Amino acid sequence: MNQEASEKKGLHGLGVSSGIAIGKAYLVERGRIHVEKHAVKDEQVEREISRFRHAIKNAHAQLSAIKETIPDDDVRRHAFIIDAHILMIQDEFFLKEVIETIKSKKVNAEWALDIVVTKFMSSFEKVADPYLRERGHDLDYIHQRLLRIMTERTGSGIYHKSIKGKAIIVAHDLSPADTIQINLEKTSGFVTDVGGRTSHTSIVARALEIPAVVGLGNITGIVSDGDTLIIDGDSGTVIINPTKEVQKEYLAKHAQLTAQRREFLRLGKLRAETQDGFKMRIGANVELLAELDIVERYGAEGVGLYRTEYIYLSSKTLPTEMDHYHIYRKLAENKALKYTTIRTLDIGGDKFVSEVEVPKEINPAMGLRAIRLCIKEMDLFKAQLRGILRASVYGPLKILFPMVSGMEEVKKAKAILRECMDELKNEHVPFDEEIRVGIMVEVPSTCMITDLLADEVDFFSIGTNDLIQYTLAIDRVNEYVSYLYEPLHPAVLRMIKKTVDDAHAHRIDVAICGEMAGEPLYVPILLGLELDEMSMNAYAIPRVKKIIRGLRHAYCKDLVKQLLANDSPKESERLVRQEMARLFPDDFGSAYQE
Ligand code: PEP
Ligand code: MG
Repeated sequence: MNQEASEKKGLHGLGVSSGIAIGKAYLVERGRIHVEKHAVKDEQVEREISRFRHAIKNAHAQLSAIKETIPDDDVRRHAFIIDAHILMIQDEFFLKEVIETIKSKKVNAEWALDIVVTKFMSSFEKVADPYLRERGHDLDYIHQRLLRIMTERTGSGIYHKSIKGKAIIVAHDLSPADTIQINLEKTSGFVTDVGGRTSHTSIVARALEIPAVVGLGNITGIVSDGDTLIIDGDSGTVIINPTKEVQKEYLAKHAQLTAQRREFLRLGKLRAETQDGFKMRIGANVELLAELDIVERYGAEGVGLYRTEYIYLSSKTLPTEMDHYHIYRKLAENKALKYTTIRTLDIGGDKFVSEVEVPKEINPAMGLRAIRLCIKEMDLFKAQLRGILRASVYGPLKILFPMVSGMEEVKKAKAILRECMDELKNEHVPFDEEIRVGIMVEVPSTCMITDLLADEVDFFSIGTNDLIQYTLAIDRVNEYVSYLYEPLHPAVLRMIKKTVDDAHAHRIDVAICGEMAGEPLYVPILLGLELDEMSMNAYAIPRVKKIIRGLRHAYCKDLVKQLLANDSPKESERLVRQEMARLFPDDFGSAYQE
């Protein structure tokens, strides 16, 4: 879509962090230092030249040091590349060009360097010889190294300086390293070309309550630095250079959302109890320690699902036992949390960690993933389990195994846990010997034997995202079959009911932690199904609490009875919408009507 069209209709991506942001765009290239132009006064010219000279000296020292660390083997033969880089930064012509540019154009050293490098690069690109053309990359590499040195010297990076107030970061994607360079306090929104709900940008944005829209395709190609942007993190809309009227409309929406948030924070503090006294435990789904503040403010009692994949995603190397320990200890020691359920690594399927080798599979959702992979990669698994156990003396932690498909897996995972416990005992490391161990119920085979599994574990947690995928045989990330993703399918509801009944018959707890748990529309159903805990994205908690407090449990049980017998999920959905619009006209009025 061109810019003109986008002004009227907006671009659409995936809204991954709620809220409205209106501000100036700030383009960030992935993994690269962004250069800003500053005019310098006559008396500052010398200072810029000396900054540049200093950067050259430092780069020389850095490159020489890198050369020294290259082992004396085959790789050493390629050290000539570093020599070439050293020669380039000492090239008289290059140095003179940059210094002359600072003097003549009266600009900062970074900008002068950028002008010269761009000029040299375009000459390289015109060269017919492919080898020489490739040398343009070396120049680019040196350019980035020099910029990095210069920006380190000026403090926390050069982002945002040219923009007054807060900026909306526009990027192809943001790696954890990119995010470190961004001044988050001066960031009012994120928009990216790629990404999904669990991409790094989305997780950070949600944790910090910064509106974000990802997966926009080519927003970096359309937006320019300094453009005014409106982003709507709920609908996934991005508007470039909006008219005054559109800005006014969104400012009003922003004010409304701010008032609503205030009300939510009030609601979050209330108890999750129906009018006839049925109490529900409310947990939060968490991916980052930085989210804990929000978890508390939005009214969760504990963490019902701590997804640990992010620990692996955010580190260049595999996390060690002690890396795990430090993170889990922070969770255990958090006084605002009555409990934290740590789910062991659940990669594969739609979640990947580049450092863990997962075989290329035709159908990864059904492949070597989650607990299957952990049982095979024992060292990886044990590092995590030992980390959890070490932290367990500091507060109430629980362990949750994902993607279990049968009893054998549970027994194997527990045997490995027992082995970790024995090792720690021998090493005189204290841990909670009574730590509770549960499994995710998210594969139909597991659901069919919950009566047997209930003797083996301390609790169940139903993962409806996967349970629906595997029960209805639809890929949860495949848009072509998303119309079949029906939480109210009687097969799904019956599976939840069976799991709850079996758990309660064996006196164990059962939670639900899929996205379904955070959808206000489904609250009466989950209450009627008599789950013990609903765990959800923290922002969903206040609305869910509000609905719980407005319902009667007896009514919910009757409603569930009807739905369990209804063969049409569409009809069930219609009935629930109609009922909720009747009971909560303010919340489920027109927006929820078909
Ligand atoms: C689920 O499958 O419902 C779940 C909570 O886990 P995830 O979304 O991480 O697979
Ligand atoms: Mg799952």
